[in-house]
Amino acid sequence: MGRGLAHMALTPAVNLGPATALVCRECGTSRELGPHYACEECFGPLEIAYDFGGITRADIESGPRNIWRYRGLLPVPSNIADTPNTEPGLTRLVRADNLAENLGLQSLWVKDDSGNPTHSFKDRVVAVALAAARELGFKVLACPSTGNLANAVAAAAARAGIRSAVFVPSDLESQKIITTAVYGGTFVTVDGNYDDVNRLASEIAGEQEDWAFVNVNVRPYYAEGSKTLGYEIAEQLGWRLPDQIVVPVASGSQLTKIDKAFTELIKLGLVEDKPYRVFGAQATGCDPVAAAFKAGHDVVRPVKPDTIAKSLAIGNPADGPYVLDVARRTGGTVEDVSDEQVVEGIRLLARTEGIFGETAGGVTVATLRKLVAGGALDPSAETVIINSGDGLKTLDAVAPVVAPSANIAPSLEAFRAAGLA
Ligand SMILES: *Cc1c(COP(=O)(O)O)cnc(C)c1O
Repeated sequence: MGRGLAHMALTPAVNLGPATALVCRECGTSRELGPHYACEECFGPLEIAYDFGGITRADIESGPRNIWRYRGLLPVPSNIADTPNTEPGLTRLVRADNLAENLGLQSLWVKDDSGNPTHSFKDRVVAVALAAARELGFKVLACPSTGNLANAVAAAAARAGIRSAVFVPSDLESQKIITTAVYGGTFVTVDGNYDDVNRLASEIAGEQEDWAFVNVNVRPYYAEGSKTLGYEIAEQLGWRLPDQIVVPVASGSQLTKIDKAFTELIKLGLVEDKPYRVFGAQATGCDPVAAAFKAGHDVVRPVKPDTIAKSLAIGNPADGPYVLDVARRTGGTVEDVSDEQVVEGIRLLARTEGIFGETAGGVTVATLRKLVAGGALDPSAETVIINSGDGLKTLDAVAPVVAPSANIAPSLEAFRAAGLA
């Protein structure tokens, strides 16, 4: 009997909804869906190709109140909503009039992704990676992480009843260590920076064939999860695209996929075709993409990260060149801000809108402020910024600069004496 036939009998065709193939972003070579992430011809990154058929606003609006309402646009089985996952998404889009007024903007929204199950946007990408990993026959959900991904992978694996294996730099914020360890699973701190941990993960992935490293060997599927941020923003604006959006950049995946989502919505006729500008936000202590943008380079030169914005501290960003493409194509820019400005950004968002973002949110708010001040952003155009994580996970960033107004004895006299009335 031919080996091909025996193989076909053992591996049924994968059911990943509208996904049809994997296509190389560099040379366009396509191959079948499977556990592949690099092009066999040129080693370029692979991306999902789709056949969406006809999909309407009503199809989406009648779906679950989480990212699975967009399952017809994602590489996941059509019955995905019936499988235990963390069901992230549909986080609030907050009208930020106070912050807008403070910065001199006419119309500003904050997409507050700290409202996800493990309090960062990473639940979106992990939910899609988990769905694909199961379909592709992986047994363990794994990742190298700067912290938020570790939370999301450990939680999703726990809920799915499978093993997790998470690797992080050992100097991570203690909050992110605790909020990963609590979910159980295998959890390893590594004496090195994120780029060291990432390289180790690739080496382990080469040996452990049934481990799905969400952002390494199932990265094409994982990355598509970020599209849901773009879909939600459009739907929550009443099926319309904003004029400008400011997005934090670590590997650059989130930014490029928000752009992909907007492009798809236009192509599908779900929103009106109109120009929009995409801006990237980095910390100066890890600014490889901003530096390349400003220098006019097409390649991104790796840096050694040194910033309090640890969730964005990827010195060698996989999607850096594609961020440059999106920013240049849409008329945006990539800016960077100092750690001091990051802390001010966190406090400004909290003070004006009652939203406590993590350091990545501080990077985004501070970048927004810089873009407005520098004239790169149009103050009269509708703007959206992403708050991608929760300030409770990066308390050390603000602990030194915030405090109660006073400490008093439990008496009216003491209250009056404190001069707070
Ligand atoms: C991972 C992360 C990002 C950016 O992710 P990329 O897709 O790698 O650019 C932004 N904000 C937070 C809080 C994150 O954890």
